[in-house]
Amino acid sequence: MEYKVLYRKYRPTCFKNIVGQEYTVKMLQNAIIHNKIAHSYLFTGPRGTGKTSTAKVFAKTINCEHLENGEACGKCNACLSFEQSPDIIEIDAASNNGVDDIRELINNVKVAPTEGRYKIYIIDEVHMMTTSAFNALLLTLEEPPAHAIFIMATTNVESVPITILSRCQRFNFKKFSLEDLIKQIRYVCEQENISITEEAITEIAYLSEGGMRDALSLLDQLSSLGEEITIESILTNYGSISMKFIRDLLKNVENREISLVHLSMQELASTSSDYKVFIKKIIQELSGIAVSIASGSYIGQFTYSQVKGIIFALNDCLNKINININPFVLIEMILLDNFEEKNTKNVDNYVENVNKILEKGTKAEQTLDEKPKMEEKVEKEIPQVTQEKSLEEEYIKKMVEIRVNNCFAEAKKEALKIFQDVWNKAIDNDKISPNIKSFILDSTVVAASDTYCILTSKLESTVYLLNKNADQLSYELQSYFSSPIYFASLSEVEWKKERQEYAQKIKNGGSYTLISESEIEKLKPKMQSEIEEIATNVFNRDKIEMV
Ligand SMILES: [Zn+2]
Repeated sequence: MEYKVLYRKYRPTCFKNIVGQEYTVKMLQNAIIHNKIAHSYLFTGPRGTGKTSTAKVFAKTINCEHLENGEACGKCNACLSFEQSPDIIEIDAASNNGVDDIRELINNVKVAPTEGRYKIYIIDEVHMMTTSAFNALLLTLEEPPAHAIFIMATTNVESVPITILSRCQRFNFKKFSLEDLIKQIRYVCEQENISITEEAITEIAYLSEGGMRDALSLLDQLSSLGEEITIESILTNYGSISMKFIRDLLKNVENREISLVHLSMQELASTSSDYKVFIKKIIQELSGIAVSIASGSYIGQFTYSQVKGIIFALNDCLNKINININPFVLIEMILLDNFEEKNTKNVDNYVENVNKILEKGTKAEQTLDEKPKMEEKVEKEIPQVTQEKSLEEEYIKKMVEIRVNNCFAEAKKEALKIFQDVWNKAIDNDKISPNIKSFILDSTVVAASDTYCILTSKLESTVYLLNKNADQLSYELQSYFSSPIYFASLSEVEWKKERQEYAQKIKNGGSYTLISESEIEKLKPKMQSEIEEIATNVFNRDKIEMV
């Protein structure tokens, strides 16, 4: 008998078997039940999260002749012939013949379905399509025949043109939770009579980083060894790190056994261990500790703020790690940072002083003479600095708002390509200053018009600094353009929101009106250097760092 890999064998065949995507499943099922099926859907999310499987279940249910509570019956003609149905057309845009397939699709889309009610096109990795294929698809999406439904899937939604996005109902597939993965791995092992320890199940779930396909592929490989799957066999074969190692390490951190921590980290750095898995495991363990500290059940020396500090620093590290440096050195530093009594006393004293002054200020009987000289100045000047700062934030907020609006007003796919091109070239341009280059490296071009360009970055700090230095960025990149250009940066979350609003607005027939750049200029506050000067007068320069 032909061996079917576990991932294929355990693919969900009905909505109720789809794990971990409850929201999406509910929405899709409701659309079928209430006969509100759209013409185009876009499933986005990381690999192995069930986009294609869900698309198939959706397609099967749409064409089923005798729906049973929003599920395909599995008995009607359409259900029985589903796998061979000429009405279900699957295209992998990443494959070589993707372009030809799309062309054929466009040509045949007007032809009515042979068996079912609908002709359903499932286009996988849709972001891989060429520009000409996208254009052809767009024409079809604009006026789809009543019998055509498009379900597109992508792991890289950033590369899908806005024009396509705005015509689709979009569903985000999230990574599987550890619990969901563990449940499914355990279920498959029971069905397949695979002998495995509980600890090994959890380990496989960890290693697959939220992807069901990876989890079951790993299980496939391990089960082929023909012996009981244990934590040891996983650790030796896949360079993983046991939870015992993590717990021992954290105990040593807690007990301030610096040399032992260092030894463990050296040991780890010399293996092929995956630092991402390592960080995630430490965070997982620390989260548990944080909860028990908060609930008062923790016995140990960690304080809540120490644990929180390490978790935040590690999470940050996960997002920023540069593969050129040894990540384990960085992780060790974060863990050891806990040993150092952080020099927060000055800040604490300062805050205390300000609080005291504020308290005193409300009491009329206090005289100025009672206050030490330094405090007196702090009281007078602080509000001014805060005001200047908030003016600047206000300015940046408005600038970004106007520029995003303007970019949407005239967004062009060709312009996006031009900016992306400049982005690649600028990295190698020696004339561009290092700080601007670092923004370029940390940011992605996501939308553009002839004059405006929207960028996103994973790092909040880059978003902030880029907006603050947007003029310099324009200035340093001016040689690539024939007319002035303007930049604005958004965090990935903000961009997601803006793009959704854009899609909704366009869908409802709305449009964007250009706002003059001079509106931004009017809001421009005093320059940063002036704020700095005020601060320097108030405090000793060593004590304050402007950010
Ligand atoms: Zn059926």
